Amino acid sequence: MQHHLQDSFGRTFPYIRMSITDVCNFKCGYCLPNGYQVDKSDNRKFLHLDEIKRLAKCFSELGVSKIRITGGEPTVRKDFFDIIKVLKVETGIKKVVITTNGYHLDKKAKLLVDSGLNGINISIDSLDRETFKNVTGHDRLPEILQGIKNLQDLGFENIKINAVLLNGINSSEKDFDKWSNFIRDNKIDFRFIELMQTGDNLDYFKKYHVPSKIFKNYLTENKWIYQTLGKDAGPSLNYINPEYKGRFGIIAPYSKDFCKTCNRLRITSRGDLRLCLFGNTGVSVRHLLQKDDQLSELKDLILGQMRFKKESHYLELGDTGSTKNLSKTGG
Ligand code: SAM
Ligand code: SF4
Repeated sequence: MQHHLQDSFGRTFPYIRMSITDVCNFKCGYCLPNGYQVDKSDNRKFLHLDEIKRLAKCFSELGVSKIRITGGEPTVRKDFFDIIKVLKVETGIKKVVITTNGYHLDKKAKLLVDSGLNGINISIDSLDRETFKNVTGHDRLPEILQGIKNLQDLGFENIKINAVLLNGINSSEKDFDKWSNFIRDNKIDFRFIELMQTGDNLDYFKKYHVPSKIFKNYLTENKWIYQTLGKDAGPSLNYINPEYKGRFGIIAPYSKDFCKTCNRLRITSRGDLRLCLFGNTGVSVRHLLQKDDQLSELKDLILGQMRFKKESHYLELGDTGSTKNLSKTGG
């Protein structure tokens, strides 16, 4: 049997996205419009610190070098900083990064830097305070922007901002210009993610989905240069401009070749291995996270799953599989 993660299409997986909770304190219209609701059909607890450590160690031995901690909102977990520290120090994983909504980022910046974190993706759907509030249900844009500044003042470099592109909400040329001004003197990458349909958001999707091509056209018209994909590049299409410190990016899950560059697997907050953000493929690995001496059995289970990874997510056919919203699978 092979000893590294590779699927039947020759894709390798140096990167894991691990959700550590489904709970979130925001109410983003496309994700949890009514806020987090307890899932009564699933009373399993979220992965414990020890389970997370064993899993990360196993992935490290299978050639994984980077883990992204996500959720739900990962920072709502009381042991969030312990998780980061354990991943960094005790598992062999080289890069530990997070995706967060930036809640209380102003106050947490120093703790984040001190934890040894290697990178942070912050979700900010709009630089307009009122629009931000309408999308997320929280008037927290100022504290998030202050948090970014605090991170930068502490010398933290790997900061990315993600926004979901929403028709008529943040999709005008004026909105794009605002981001452009933001990254002109800020060494921050900004990426638009095309809105994805999930099991729960069909009406929202129909109302607000707009192809990311509109942003692509804006970039071309404004002389941004497409950067060709490097080895291990993920699915983001990146654009550079010598007059700007930051880069622009587009994540276009509906584009033809999106899945060709897939380099990631996912773990849900309750310990299911998911081979794709969408679709129903995956198994629970939790029963093999209970003791240190289960490591080799765990490796075999994960390696054995690789042949089930499909070539594409089939999203364009409206097939969202079991994904009700992205807080569940860890977007
Ligand atoms: N709560 C954290 C946050 O918002 O950054 C982490 C989890 S969230 C599910 C991860 C990312 O998925 C966020 O950038 C969010 O905007 C994005 N997302 C959620 N639902 C989405 C959807 N239906 N289509 C596209 N992106 C989505
Ligand atoms: Fe929460 Fe993130 Fe979903 Fe927004 S996108 S509701 S912040 S999990």
